[in-house]
Formats: sequence, structure tokens, C-alpha cells
Amino acid sequence: MNSSSQRSGGNLFVVSAPSGAGKTSLCKEIIDFFPGLRHSVSYTTRAPRSGEIDGKDYHFVSRDVFDGMIADGAFAEWAEVHGNGYGTAIRTLDDAQAAGYDILLEIDCQGAAQIKNNYRQGVFVFILPPDLAELKRRLESRGTDSAEVIARRIDNAQGEIREAIWYDYLVVNDVFAVALDQFKAIVIAENCRTARILGSVAAEFGFSDLIENT
Ligand code: 5GP
Repeated sequence: MNSSSQRSGGNLFVVSAPSGAGKTSLCKEIIDFFPGLRHSVSYTTRAPRSGEIDGKDYHFVSRDVFDGMIADGAFAEWAEVHGNGYGTAIRTLDDAQAAGYDILLEIDCQGAAQIKNNYRQGVFVFILPPDLAELKRRLESRGTDSAEVIARRIDNAQGEIREAIWYDYLVVNDVFAVALDQFKAIVIAENCRTARILGSVAAEFGFSDLIENT
């Protein structure tokens, strides 16, 4: 199925998860599936991992540049995560809005809470692993982090998971294909919201006068 006939642009999807829940893989599939949905490229002070491309995976910047952006009020949200700065530029969100496409932010709970406070149209999705033992197994099998980093991430995960309570949607990523279907269903449902499409429908069917007064 192709969603292009359903989209109206301007959706802001915010996705959080403890690392190892499968958020990056799910988001990649979602972006590939929905032509009108783009990935927000964050700024970070973290060093690139092997294979990561500047400007595509992240904008990799120095601590000075990052702090300068905070001082200039350039971020829609920012946070310190695992000892590094991460942030979403206001410009990134404005450009998406102006170009009429939906945007997906993969950010931590602290940043998501800031978006929740400042952007009315945010849709908040939390991805959970089936249990903590599986989360640990996934982090270990990834082979990208040291035992110390994995232990820190598991520790952080327990706190992060408590934040799931205020998100709009929870997706448990046990079987990947099922989680992906659920995530797609969320995006499709959001694009069918009356408020998102009423304007164009009303014009087509000649009742724009009715909604102008609502
Ligand atoms: P990683 O370094 O593994 O790519 O990301 C570490 C964490 O930082 C993940 O939880 C990720 O979602 C979060 N993150 C990535 N970009 C941003 C951002 O722009 N803002 C915030 N608040 N968190 C981010």
C-alpha cells in the first residue's frame, strides 16, 4: 500500500526508545515506506560511528558549535544523552512544515518532553523491547559498545521506560514485522485524522462554510 493519497503534511512524529529496542531499524523501514515522511537529522557532539555519514545520520558538530546553537536558541529541543549533546534544530522542523512533508524525530525522552510542551501537533510513539533480558541480549549482539557502555545503557533504559506512560502510542518490538505493522498503522491513522484532511474534503464537497465557523 502507498500512503501518498492520504497524507496532508505537517505531522510531527516523535519516537523514543531505550537503545537496543530496535527503534533505528523500525524508523528506517517506516521512512522507506512512506514517501511523504522524512527523517529529522539531529545535531550531536558524539563522534561518528563507523559507516555513519555527516549530514545524513547526524550533523556531527563540536561542543563549541553545539553550545553556540543553544545560546542562539536554534534548537526546538536538546538534551545530554550518554554524555553527549543531541538536538533538533528549529530550522529542520520549519523546513518540513514549509515543504509540506511529515517529519520523524528519533530522540530521547527529555527532548520528546520539550517537543510535547512546544509543538501542539506532535504524535508520540514509544518503542519497547519485550523485556530487559532481551534488551541486554540485543545490545550485546550488536557488538558496537563496550560492556561498560552496555551496562550504562541498561541502567538508563529502566528509567527511560517509565517515561512511556505519557506517550500517545506504545509499540512492543518483540516480532519485528508485527511491530512494523503497528507503527505503520499509527502513521496511517494519524494521516486520516479529520482535522488533517477536513479542509481539502470540505472544499471538494462544497461545505467549506461549515468549517470556517468551527
Ligand atoms: P545514538 O548515539 O545511539 O545515535 O543516540 C543516543 C540517543 O540519543 C538515542 O536515544 C537517540 O534517540 C537520542 N537522540 C538522537 N538525536 C537526538 C536529538 O536530536 N535530541 C534528543 N533529545 N535526543 C536525540
